[in-house]
Amino acid sequence: LNAVRSIHVPSPVANIRPEFTKLFINNEWVNAKSGRTFETFNPATGEKITDVAEADKADVDIAVKAAQDAFRLGSRWRTMDAADRGRLLNRLADLMERDRAILASLETLDNGKPYAIAYMADLHLSIACLRYYAGWADKNHGKTIPIAGDYFSYTRHEPIGVCGQIIPWNFPLLMQAWKLGPALAMGNTVVMKVAEQTPLSALHVASLVKEAGFPEGVVNVLAGYGHTAGQAISSHMGVDKVAFTGSTEVGKLVMKSAAESNIKKVTLELGGKSPNIIFADADINTAVQLANHGLFFNQGQCCCAGSRTFVEGKIYDEFVARSKEAAEKAVIGNPFDPKTTQGPQVDGNQVETILKYINEGKKEGAQLVTGGKKVEGRGHFVAPTVFAGVNDQMKIAQEEIFGPVMSIIRFDDEKDLIEKANNTIYGLAAGVVTKDIERALHIANNIRAGSVWVNCYDVFDAAAPFGGYKQSGIGRELGEYGLQAYTEVKSVTIKVPQKNS
Ligand code: NAD
Repeated sequence: LNAVRSIHVPSPVANIRPEFTKLFINNEWVNAKSGRTFETFNPATGEKITDVAEADKADVDIAVKAAQDAFRLGSRWRTMDAADRGRLLNRLADLMERDRAILASLETLDNGKPYAIAYMADLHLSIACLRYYAGWADKNHGKTIPIAGDYFSYTRHEPIGVCGQIIPWNFPLLMQAWKLGPALAMGNTVVMKVAEQTPLSALHVASLVKEAGFPEGVVNVLAGYGHTAGQAISSHMGVDKVAFTGSTEVGKLVMKSAAESNIKKVTLELGGKSPNIIFADADINTAVQLANHGLFFNQGQCCCAGSRTFVEGKIYDEFVARSKEAAEKAVIGNPFDPKTTQGPQVDGNQVETILKYINEGKKEGAQLVTGGKKVEGRGHFVAPTVFAGVNDQMKIAQEEIFGPVMSIIRFDDEKDLIEKANNTIYGLAAGVVTKDIERALHIANNIRAGSVWVNCYDVFDAAAPFGGYKQSGIGRELGEYGLQAYTEVKSVTIKVPQKNS
């Protein structure tokens, strides 16, 4: 976040009304076959924003057909130069830049995250991701391979085909960019289902896909529910690959549907319960700030949230006291107000879940230091909550809460620290704060997680891969590694009269 703090943030679009609320199929805006719509709400007020077309299996079928047509041999998309795919992605990024205030305003309206953060962080990272993958479009080379015998052998990196992409509500635009960037750079076509809680910003981006000049059917964006539209994608015989971001529970269903239908390729970005380990030699101000940001950023709705804060005994009491102060400094309220640092949770269901976990924490004997309740009044706000005296086996230290609840666990002995930090079904991320580089490297190398941040947290860049060990997922997004999820490797071997070295 520090890298983007210098960005000038213009005012949000006053009283923004979403322009795009239908399904985006074949570069056209259409109603759902059933004619059904669903409501989307402003989580800061609980008020309805608008009705959005509700995709179901019938609409997924139409979108998949459009994506298959766009992928057909000889189509405009298939015969386009790879560099031109990159140009289209860059044009899409330019248009997002042009509409940045609109997109950030829609994101804040529908998701509740503070507008300044949406503008600086979400839009910055989304646009940068598309530009990063635009550059890869003509650079994902195959190889020539010196196999034995009189043969010439080479590999081609080909697109997989129709990619189903199912995304969550916590970073609607960013998750869309992470999925579209590599898929389109590699020449695939896409049927994307956005989260039912936050369809609006992604639909605006769909309008920009058309304006950028992508051929029809290359990108199709549907709003709808998981058990209907989402399930229709993961079980579809015409979808060649499914990429899913969301809960581990649903990730298992997606994988099962993929297996039971056509063994479509599967990548999953799932939940987390990430350890953030603070040693006594750390600068306490930095450590408190990193732990606070690592947990409370995005209202605690981050899959990589540092939700198990391990703190060395020598500084434990001071750390808890300072973390309480830091949490209480949060400015909660209207996310369009520039002073606001914490917006609402995405909906009432999330608030219920969070309150249930807070109760569990109290029942299991953790000490509630601050917060612990819903903020009275309209909207889905939860007071920033800190628990001390947490044992790493408690529910609040083992299960994903996905809310502003910090659990501070004391450690005195470094011997079993790594074992404890690894003692979770998840393995998405971890943090370590220390001045001792050997210790930092030892921890970084032995934590079973896809990202480890040393003396920092939540540092994201389109060039660095992200993804989970264990039940946090399968595969990697971002970076060069992220291309693999959208590429089929073909080896071609040709008989030659005589091989020479
Ligand atoms: P969720 O898994 O219920 O929903 C995510 C997406 O999956 C939504 O689009 C939803 O409509 C769809 N979906 C739901 N049921 C489906 C089904 N049966 N078949 C196909 N699709 C289905 O998740 P949620 O509770 O809305 O979001 C929070 C969870 O997502 C958290 O557990 C969090 O850890 C996880 N998450 C992970 C990452 C990551 O990068 N690893 C990022 C964001 C969120």
